[in-house]
Amino acid sequence: MKLFKKILIANRGEIAIRIIRACRELDIKTVAIFSDIERDAMHVRLADESICIGPAVLSSSYLNIPAILSAAEVTDAEAIHPGYGFLSENPQFAEACATSGITFIGPSTETIKSGGDKSKARQIMKRKGVPVVPGSDGPVVTEEAATKIAKKIGFPVIFKASSGGGGRGMRIVHDEGGAANAFHMAQREALAAFGNSELYVEKYLNPIRHIEVQIIADGKGNVVHLGERDCSVQRRHQKLIEEAPSPMATEKFRKRIGELAVKAAKAMKYKNAGTIEFIVDQDQNVYFMEINTRVQVEHPVTEEITGVDIIKEQIKIAAGLPLSFKQNEIKIAGHSIECRINAEDPEKFIPCPGKITFFHQPGGPGIRVDTAAYNGWVVPSQYDSMIAKLIVHAKNREEAIIRMKRALDEFIIEGIKTTISFHKKVLNHPDFVKGSVNTSFIERLASGDAGSSGSNDDKPS
Ligand code: ADP
Repeated sequence: MKLFKKILIANRGEIAIRIIRACRELDIKTVAIFSDIERDAMHVRLADESICIGPAVLSSSYLNIPAILSAAEVTDAEAIHPGYGFLSENPQFAEACATSGITFIGPSTETIKSGGDKSKARQIMKRKGVPVVPGSDGPVVTEEAATKIAKKIGFPVIFKASSGGGGRGMRIVHDEGGAANAFHMAQREALAAFGNSELYVEKYLNPIRHIEVQIIADGKGNVVHLGERDCSVQRRHQKLIEEAPSPMATEKFRKRIGELAVKAAKAMKYKNAGTIEFIVDQDQNVYFMEINTRVQVEHPVTEEITGVDIIKEQIKIAAGLPLSFKQNEIKIAGHSIECRINAEDPEKFIPCPGKITFFHQPGGPGIRVDTAAYNGWVVPSQYDSMIAKLIVHAKNREEAIIRMKRALDEFIIEGIKTTISFHKKVLNHPDFVKGSVNTSFIERLASGDAGSSGSNDDKPS
């Protein structure tokens, strides 16, 4: 069966190239879109066709729905893959694709809508028996209501934007005195970043691990999980290093969190690939945090240990094929780690765009580099600063760490600053080596006391 003849990729950078690769192997032609400052971008060069859809500013190009749909129409693309970020979780875009007779490679508009409303998603999960972090039932409109809930569940709490994402629109509140101010700040931040000031309240749990489960569903009743990813190495709620499996997970834990993820996916009538994000506390209690209705940046670590090509599966499901595997056919093999290499100052994490004057990427056994960077490329200042994902796969975690350190040493990027040296520091840290990290690890590392207090000592049981 022919899947699609041609797919348009509504994205840029490494994820656009990742999708082009999957299409090539499936014998599907590709259309790249680009803004007028990205004529020399690698995704443009590697696609079969490409179309400039507007100026660099996002609303005129990578977020410009009419321009993207016209590009699909003039090139006869039958489907659109949105990648991550940009329009990938925009229900209006999914709907507009459907109206234009173009297949949106992702879940239904309804699912995207309920996943994007984090407060509503919590309510759905609660109703279906998936544990959520203690907090408000739905959105909270006034500071008085927020304070009342906070007092009931106990400080510290976190005010979160219902339509939040990317670690933004969140405020931790330590006591009643700070609640009103934090509430208004969070509202303002949420309105500015997401165009919606709605907030909800959650208990702020600490120390915790961020553990998420990759799920994949064909819309024909088959929902399979591909195991967990541990994304606890974060800075300001943004992921820096991800690994699979989680160093804290036993078979029993994997089964438990996997079953919860499948239950969550079913509650959302999920179709296509998605991720259920959980908070795991020191006693290994698991709480639903949110659902991401798209492919994740860190999907490669799951691909490495399961052998499942998540992008190809997304395309096949969108074309109407049933899943070709069952839960008991998914086997976890070895260990995989991903380091996000950003064009940033490794001390201050300030973006550092500019021209790459020398570029050499690591290779050899067990190394995968997903990147759109090349020698002479000018990293634009307008877009995300992540310029490469360095992924390793090895027999076990110990060897994966050794391999990652070797790969980081081989990676040479000159002309701009990158976070390579930061990753080397983390990979050498005794707590990381032990697998004993939580979401505050990087902040404690920066303040010089990582390892001395509060480390998440959750041993496999
Ligand atoms: P986003 O969509 O912006 O990434 P998430 O809800 O996924 O937002 O949260 C991002 C990160 O913030 C989590 O990985 C975790 O580190 C932290 N976080 C979120 N909610 C809580 C909470 N209730 N308690 C402690 N940390 C939290």
